[in-house]
Amino acid sequence: MNKQKWQVRSPVNQEILDEVDLTDLGELPGLFLKAKQTQEKWALVKVSERARLLVDLKEVIIQHMDEISDLICKENGKPRTEAMVHDIITSLESIHYFAKSGVKTLKDQRIHLGSPLFLLRKSYLIHRPLGVISVISPWNFPLFFPITEICMAVLAGNAVIFKPSEYAMLIGRKIQSLFEEAGFPRHLVETVYGDGKLGAAIIDQRPAKIFFTGSVATGKKIMGQASQYLIPVNLELGGKDPMIVLPDANVDFATSAALWGAFANSGQICASTQRILIPEAMKDAFIKSFKEKAEKLRHIPNDSAKTDLGAITMPKQKEVYDRQLADAKSRSLEVVTGGEWQKDRVSLEPTVFMGNHIEESDVYLNETFGPIKTITTYQSVSEAIEKANNTKYGLLASVITSNPALGLRVAKQIEAGTVIVNEVAFTAGAPETPWGGVKESGFGTKHSDKGLLEFVHSQHINMPKRSLYTFKSLWWFPYSPFQYETFRTYAKLHRSSWFSKLASIPWLLWNFTHLIKSEKRL
Ligand code: NAD
Repeated sequence: MNKQKWQVRSPVNQEILDEVDLTDLGELPGLFLKAKQTQEKWALVKVSERARLLVDLKEVIIQHMDEISDLICKENGKPRTEAMVHDIITSLESIHYFAKSGVKTLKDQRIHLGSPLFLLRKSYLIHRPLGVISVISPWNFPLFFPITEICMAVLAGNAVIFKPSEYAMLIGRKIQSLFEEAGFPRHLVETVYGDGKLGAAIIDQRPAKIFFTGSVATGKKIMGQASQYLIPVNLELGGKDPMIVLPDANVDFATSAALWGAFANSGQICASTQRILIPEAMKDAFIKSFKEKAEKLRHIPNDSAKTDLGAITMPKQKEVYDRQLADAKSRSLEVVTGGEWQKDRVSLEPTVFMGNHIEESDVYLNETFGPIKTITTYQSVSEAIEKANNTKYGLLASVITSNPALGLRVAKQIEAGTVIVNEVAFTAGAPETPWGGVKESGFGTKHSDKGLLEFVHSQHINMPKRSLYTFKSLWWFPYSPFQYETFRTYAKLHRSSWFSKLASIPWLLWNFTHLIKSEKRL
């Protein structure tokens, strides 16, 4: 079959880097079928065996790491350090964690039954694979986000239909080859290449669950489409993350944290610091320090090793920036720093706005997913918390302070999936910790043991204890006034007074014994 080709262009100079064969929509049913057949066998493989292959995958990544980092820089436009730290190291550490702890997390668990009524029964949780699941990814962490999810999925016994972003297809193709080289069964991971239309067609194939990371707008479409088939979805969406700099914060530390939080990956991070909230009294010192540091960030388009700021990866994103810049201008917002496009619109200067009525502006209210940020002042800590929470998003927030106890108190009042004190954004790379948002930032957990359990159906199995296989429960037929009276007395065990509880026990024991002996269960 003659496949349609997709030309992958460099975001730095638009040169064609390579071509990728697009997946024809008609291929999907066959791919799902092969994945399902493979998954059925894979589900029988011990979790510890599956984990061993993850360890092999880590080795393969290390063998190819320079090539992978090169590819990320070329296709994604990231600085080389970010390709290594944000994508390769985070991937290795997550795979290491799940290969090690996943075996325990996925073990059958005994559930203790507390009620005396269920004394003769025991319960277990069995973590069964879901089947063929789908991972649909964005482009901003083109290796780390998808590979972690795919690893969690296969460790849990699933097969994966993986659709990388159309702006990360070369890295997607590399991910496919890494799994093959590590020795995973053929068809267990199937990478498909295409845009949103292919993503929508995947849902029509009814994967067992959809793990989607991307924009709120696409997340809503996916959930709408999945609802027709009642397919569960895990949605990791956008954010408008606040950073509250508390009055006791060290200004130099606060501006360094805000700088990295705001401009790492040129702000193309879901958990990028977007709304910096500072005390009115700190305004002059903070702005002076932040502006000086922002203006030292280097954008060197053709040298990924020395540049601090990468390219803007997705051309359409530039329209969002233009819209927000125009809106800021129309509201006469003050430009703290930046505001200009650089080198044929390859990147935008680190840009920060402040000023009256900024809280009604596009850049304050809506996700930028790029290097445009806001600074807002506050008079009291409660006002800062209120401002931090006044958003439709709730992915991540940061609190900067010299008093960790105060930081914790403030953190507990912020509506976000994660709040980090005296750091920014990094916990996506700490695989032990859950990742995920509230409000329009999505739902479901990625990473952590809780996140791993999103890839299984936790089936409850209840059974009799040994040698009591045929005991007929006391609540079975036939009903009788005596049986009613016995359970009525039993209900009194839930009284808070210990005296009444104890008083009913002898009577209850006698009644239950009588019930067992005298009433013949049907
Ligand atoms: P996007 O929503 O445009 O695309 C994400 C993926 O969805 C791509 O693979 C795309 O091809 C696919 N897609 C598009 N339309 C689809 C449809 N109708 N059905 C199925 N799939 C479809 O997002 P993007 O531009 O690639 O990524 C940027 C967004 O991702 C930002 O909003 C960012 O905040 C968010 N993001 C969130 C997290 C998180 O963990 N919460 C992480 C990274 C990025």
